[in-house]
Amino acid sequence: MDRDILDVEEHDEDEESQLRPHSFEQYIGQEDLKKNLKVFVTAAKMRDESLDHVLLYGPPGLGKTTMSMIIANEMGTHIRVTSGPSIDKTGDLVAILTALEPGDVLFIDEIHRLNKVVEEVLYPAMEDYCVDVIIGKDQSARSIRIDLPPFTLVGATTRMGDISAPLRDRFGIIGKLDYYKDDELQEIISRTSKVYGMDIADDARSELAKRSRGTPRIANRLFRRVRDFSMFYGEKVISLERTKEALDNLKVDDLGLDHVDHKYLLGIIERYRGGPVGLNALAASIGEEPNTLEDVCEPYLLQKGLIRRTAKGRVATDLAYRHFHIEREF
Ligand code: ADP
Repeated sequence: MDRDILDVEEHDEDEESQLRPHSFEQYIGQEDLKKNLKVFVTAAKMRDESLDHVLLYGPPGLGKTTMSMIIANEMGTHIRVTSGPSIDKTGDLVAILTALEPGDVLFIDEIHRLNKVVEEVLYPAMEDYCVDVIIGKDQSARSIRIDLPPFTLVGATTRMGDISAPLRDRFGIIGKLDYYKDDELQEIISRTSKVYGMDIADDARSELAKRSRGTPRIANRLFRRVRDFSMFYGEKVISLERTKEALDNLKVDDLGLDHVDHKYLLGIIERYRGGPVGLNALAASIGEEPNTLEDVCEPYLLQKGLIRRTAKGRVATDLAYRHFHIEREF
């Protein structure tokens, strides 16, 4: 697998890769997306063609990278993994594209962060499986066309709105990943507990699922921390008590909100009297990056009904006030 990974930004990739499901069957949840992809993969295989290009979007940690690896597995091909910000120059992308073998999956994470010039190289590559490269300089410069093998580009993004129309239109399949339901997260936690060989009590598993923000990556990360607490106390099975203790210590509350979510919500409530407040002003006042707030915090807070986005800015809802037991001032 290593030779196929050009650049992966996850630092704990080894641990993550043990947990990644390898087939549609093992991939829990995202039923609609999975069903559609199964059909498209099977049909492409029946025609002996490469799968059409796929764009996956949704908040971080929901399984976009995992799904792209499964697509390659199910197609019986290799995957090459890279990301938008790591492809600096057109030459980098050309090098990646020309090294592909027929049917390969090229996964580009954070594809919305590709620079414009590099993005334009992708258009003919996606549409006609070719790239035009300029060789030589000034008057002797000429353009030559290099043919590429048929391949499948799988792009992932947390920001669908930042994908340019010409790029978006070149994807034949566009799939959205949603936050996971409680029972699906519980299933994921059971699987994780088996992989790590550490049992977890039913009530502890349910508590962990509830506090994992609907996100498998967070469920797995919290599982590891809760496991550390249990091991520290010499316990063989993760109990509800230990789970609560660990999560409270990690400042993850009942809804799965962490300290950044708290700063965000309390920022609106205490500094802006519940809003509306613009994202940049709020971010500056709590010392966080607007992009992090928009990509990571807001989708979950919106889904939980704790904030609303209005034309004038972000507003904390009554539910947010109740969550912190604060009376709204008028
Ligand atoms: P993304 O690319 O959307 O940020 P990843 O694919 O890297 O998310 O998923 C993060 C982790 O969550 C993976 O290591 C994997 O173990 C786990 N995971 C994601 N989706 C699922 C799923 N549907 N079933 C089981 N585990 C999953």
